[in-house]
Amino acid sequence: MKIMKFGGTSVGNPDRMKALIPLINDDEKKIVVLSAMAGTTNSLVEISNLLYAENVNEASDKNDTLRSNYHRVVNELLETESNKTTGHELIDSHFDHIANFTKGVFTKLKEKEILAQGELLSTSLFNLLLQERNIKSILLPALSFMRIDKDGEPDSFYIEENIKRELKNYPSENIIITQGFICRNAHGEIDNLKRGGSDFTASLIGSAVNASEIQIWTDINGFHNNDPRFVENTKVIRELSFDEAAELAYFGAKILHPSSVYPARIKNIPVRLKNTMEPSDPGTLITLSSVLQDYKAVAAKDGISVLRIRSDRMLMAYGFLRKVFEIFEAYRTPIDMITTSEVAVSITIDNSEFIKQIAKELKELGSVEVEENQTIVCVVGDFRTERTGSAPEIFEALNTIPLKMISYGGSPNSLSLLIDTSNKIEALRLLSKHLFD
Ligand code: ASP
Ligand code: MG
Repeated sequence: MKIMKFGGTSVGNPDRMKALIPLINDDEKKIVVLSAMAGTTNSLVEISNLLYAENVNEASDKNDTLRSNYHRVVNELLETESNKTTGHELIDSHFDHIANFTKGVFTKLKEKEILAQGELLSTSLFNLLLQERNIKSILLPALSFMRIDKDGEPDSFYIEENIKRELKNYPSENIIITQGFICRNAHGEIDNLKRGGSDFTASLIGSAVNASEIQIWTDINGFHNNDPRFVENTKVIRELSFDEAAELAYFGAKILHPSSVYPARIKNIPVRLKNTMEPSDPGTLITLSSVLQDYKAVAAKDGISVLRIRSDRMLMAYGFLRKVFEIFEAYRTPIDMITTSEVAVSITIDNSEFIKQIAKELKELGSVEVEENQTIVCVVGDFRTERTGSAPEIFEALNTIPLKMISYGGSPNSLSLLIDTSNKIEALRLLSKHLFD
């Protein structure tokens, strides 16, 4: 059994949905995971934000606009009058549900239920399309098996037990459709796996059912060796290891949700990135091992802040870093990159929600400097520490750009650098020129 996840643009309009049929309609058993149609989750977030702000009128207007868009989708997607009627009724039931939430105090719980409507809509519509074409499919609700625990982490045991139990009911059906992104939490309420979480759904399901392959279908041919939005002539990387893919996904490559690598890796299930616009292209294959190369790819992650702590008390002292880390832990703020000297330590974070409080507490330990608008550039390649001569091209390429931090030796697959975000595009172009051209 394989998993095929189609992202928002792959189900972004009726034609794109129809184009998926030849990709899934064969004799192999598969679980098809769908995102919401492109733009829908963003609109649902906007509606929720308006409701938090008690701007009920504008929220209702937005809901009505989205509702009419979906009625248009139904008209183009389905052929027969009776199927169209079913489709229109389905759309109205979802948007009436959202409209109900405009009454009374708006809560996190209501927000999560609103956000869930996008995937519920896309999967129901796609299932209707298949029914109309007489293609046998099953719509398996993700809410019946996908679950996170009290810490917000996937409850793998629950997921495996429940999806296996559900699948037993459909031994001979080849196309099982389910929603990405949505789940239940430890209290049984509707929740989600955070933005972009449909990839994570696919990988969690793949791991739970021991799939032969997890395919993530988007509108690009796989991981590129640099960011195609800023750099010309980027190339597709055909093979990556799980570790390399995890670094690229985490440090900026938008094509794959970073959390989705881990569940595949623990069960050693290959992940393949494919393009719905060019299905014959082999895409990128992610497996346990892949051929090492000096430099494979470059990715960049914006929105980084750096905190520099300097203290003479650090000299020859033990326990100093523990005190520093405890402050970040108290504010549940993950650290991305760290470099130390004997009397100073620099730490980067990408969630600056509590940066003021963290800086204030760090000041008890020494002097603190904060700088925002930073970018981590991550070069993925062969950085095994027993090698000689790796990396000179990187520094040569970037010799006109101030490097704020360098992290080497933390991972055999990557070298990371911190730069000002204003230098990012220039840095990415220089790296492509020196490493790949
Ligand atoms: N629809 C959700 C989002 O836009 C999940 C996903 O597409 O992966 O974030
Ligand atoms: Mg995505």
